[in-house]
Amino acid sequence: MRDTELYRQLLGLASPWTVTRVELAVKEQRVDVWAGHAEGERWPCPECGALLPGYDHTEEREWRHLDSCQFKTYLHARPPRVQCAEHGVRQVRLPWAEERARFTTLFERLAIDVLLETDVLGAARILRITWDEAWHIQERAVRRGQQAKAPRVVPQLGVDEKAAAKGHRYLTLVCDLQAATVEFIGDDRKQASLDGYFTGLTEAQRDGIEAIALDMWEPYIQSIRAQVPGADTKMVFDRYHIMGHMGKAVDTVRKREHRALKAVGDETLTGSKYLWLYAEENLPAKHEERFAPLKAGHLRTARAWAIKESLRDLWDYQRTGWAERHWKRWYFWATHSRLTPVIEAARTIQRHLPNVLTFFTHRVTNAVSEGLNSKIQTIKKMAYGFRNPEHFKTAIYFHCGGLQLYPVTHSIPG
Ligand SMILES: [Zn+2]
Repeated sequence: MRDTELYRQLLGLASPWTVTRVELAVKEQRVDVWAGHAEGERWPCPECGALLPGYDHTEEREWRHLDSCQFKTYLHARPPRVQCAEHGVRQVRLPWAEERARFTTLFERLAIDVLLETDVLGAARILRITWDEAWHIQERAVRRGQQAKAPRVVPQLGVDEKAAAKGHRYLTLVCDLQAATVEFIGDDRKQASLDGYFTGLTEAQRDGIEAIALDMWEPYIQSIRAQVPGADTKMVFDRYHIMGHMGKAVDTVRKREHRALKAVGDETLTGSKYLWLYAEENLPAKHEERFAPLKAGHLRTARAWAIKESLRDLWDYQRTGWAERHWKRWYFWATHSRLTPVIEAARTIQRHLPNVLTFFTHRVTNAVSEGLNSKIQTIKKMAYGFRNPEHFKTAIYFHCGGLQLYPVTHSIPG
């Protein structure tokens, strides 16, 4: 087999395209392949498909292709242009690459697979391309995926905020709780940040929303009320966020008590911060010995902790009525605890109670978006933080968007 025929087959080129020349540069470790076509060929206009005679050719262009063994491989061709009565002079579609791409679609597919497994820097090293080139492939993949995405109803949403970088820049994330995908990322955590998601939906998509899990965050509540029909029956204040607020209250009690104890030389609470924050059943065994006397003692922190742990039981009830009864008993206990941070947290939850109890209708939590959150945390770490929040968003969509990222490839014979 001649080298041109070998590469025609490897590249999967079909008529009218063929390989005209192959050059191997051993010293540079590269293979250059030229594609050409027969004279007098007619080409479809890329816009309307009308078959037209060749008008001219553009300058020779070069596309990086999959390596031939250890040799970098480049495809060269002069793309033909046609003159369409309606669309003017246009470059025809090439079977091996998307418009304006510098890589063949097969190379891009490989690059996307590598990028999904590692960060941009790692992918660039493995693929022997620059950081900018790898980043570009990722960016194009996200754009491609978003354009191909058909509007669909997402019945269960999770709304959450995410710190984008140091200095408290926030992003608003909207997740599909069933598919575990990030559907939308808005700047900041204001009402308008979330509005951006809803205003991009069709009426049917908005009507199809059944439940939204979120934190008790006023701007989000206002956005949902303004944008989602029947919002008050659909919002569920997420149990993990609520327990987060209680955890903070316990921690504040601990800090104050620790300060007071230390002032009289008592180190009882030293180094105990995290012991109080675990759910009781999640406390690692190695801490049990230390924690048992602490929680059984007469510390204010121990009381705050017991109140927090009792709140957790709320979500175990099967019916709203039973949960409500538990809440009333708990609320009385918490508000008579003489522990200010606990009382404040209890009152905040009380004010939002109707949409805490909607849990028993919808049974949704933000646990999924918490999982996505940790994935996003990894993305952030791998990139050593994103100075450009737009880049951070692109990376989130790439890894968590559930998008169809790949370019369409031409069929490979055989
Ligand atoms: Zn046309």
